[in-house]
Amino acid sequence: MGYNKKPEKKTTDKKYVKKDFSCSVDKKCGGCQYLTMNYQEQLKMKQASVRKLLEPFGKTGAIIGMEDSFHYRNKVHAVFDRLRDGTVISGVYQEGTHNVVPVTSCLIEDEKSDAIINDIRGLLKSFKIKTYDEDTGYGLLRHVLVRRGFASGQIMVVLVLGSPILPSKNNFVKALRKLHPEISTVVINVNDKKTSMVLGEKESVIYGKGFIEDTLCGCTFRISPKSFYQVNPVQTEKLYGKAMELAQLTGKEKVIDAYCGIGTIGMVAAKQVREVIGVELNKDAVRDAIGNAKRNDMKNIRFVQGDATEFMMAMAARGEKADVVFMDPPRSGSTEDFMNAAVKLGPSRIVYISCNPETLARDLKYITKRGYRMREAYPVDMFPHCDHCEVVCLLQKNNVECR
Ligand code: SAH
Repeated sequence: MGYNKKPEKKTTDKKYVKKDFSCSVDKKCGGCQYLTMNYQEQLKMKQASVRKLLEPFGKTGAIIGMEDSFHYRNKVHAVFDRLRDGTVISGVYQEGTHNVVPVTSCLIEDEKSDAIINDIRGLLKSFKIKTYDEDTGYGLLRHVLVRRGFASGQIMVVLVLGSPILPSKNNFVKALRKLHPEISTVVINVNDKKTSMVLGEKESVIYGKGFIEDTLCGCTFRISPKSFYQVNPVQTEKLYGKAMELAQLTGKEKVIDAYCGIGTIGMVAAKQVREVIGVELNKDAVRDAIGNAKRNDMKNIRFVQGDATEFMMAMAARGEKADVVFMDPPRSGSTEDFMNAAVKLGPSRIVYISCNPETLARDLKYITKRGYRMREAYPVDMFPHCDHCEVVCLLQKNNVECR
């Protein structure tokens, strides 16, 4: 984060835009582990490591990379602090510490959001807003979160304060919107706890609707400050597109979207199937999912709040069936009970979307001994310059030929 532009080098591969940047806080921030490696090398490395992990189960296709791998993050978070001489800084915590590394621009963050954060820093003095001191609890502004809908252009600014009152809030919003008229909503979030969590419980909207909307794969999603939303929308569309292709939907299927979040995968699928049931543990996410289905006038999808494993086991116990199961568990992966239940529902296809190839391989070892085989897997680079890699793979029931 915080970069100096170097002259561009010539490249022979036109598919990926190769820029050569360096970052002034790279070592301290620790966010981009692969920044010193060129992007095509990164892709090769991710491809090789996923291929090696999944080799015992089947074929891994070519990694889906980004054409322009910079400034892809639609969500930017900055922690505010001040130096001994009173200078206000904003940036990220140095890895493993609570020391703030100042960041004014970042290679992977949305540039507009970075500019807004810099201008908020500039406005604090004239509005006499003090930054919050974690040790003494003195001061007001703790964090700023900016989310931009890349498709809608809508921008949400969340000011995380140590106490609920922002003096001259209307004038502050006016001054900020004068600099950035694109800001569509400003929310105050109150976090008065000694915690490493960024957001607190209480919220008040001081400008606009309190949420933004964005479009993915032709569906519109409402995103409130606390909702989970994929941070790289360009790659998310490719990921979901691949997931739908692997699912080979014909319009007749009954589909389960397990670990569904705000319902994104299920809603994209709902346009191409008979019926979808989404299941998700987080109450806020389920509320958003239900609202999103209504907003898009989708009547063939419903959502259940609960543990995905318990839900699947209960379905299986009632003797219910499903044609396709999408599963997108957190980094820790799925459970043996979930997979046993999924097998009992008898889907001819299971599409497993994973943000952790290691737990994916562990789960594949289990499910491939229970009547399913992995037909194809595709790594998708959702986090360029960082050491994570997403994978989407198709598991097919052994006696079914559909691809
Ligand atoms: N499919 C969504 C969200 C994936 S993130 C998307 O693409 O945006 C994984 C989701 O699994 C999170 O929303 C998390 O709240 C949910 N989750 C975690 N454990 C769960 C469980 N045991 N049962 C159901 N959902 C769970």
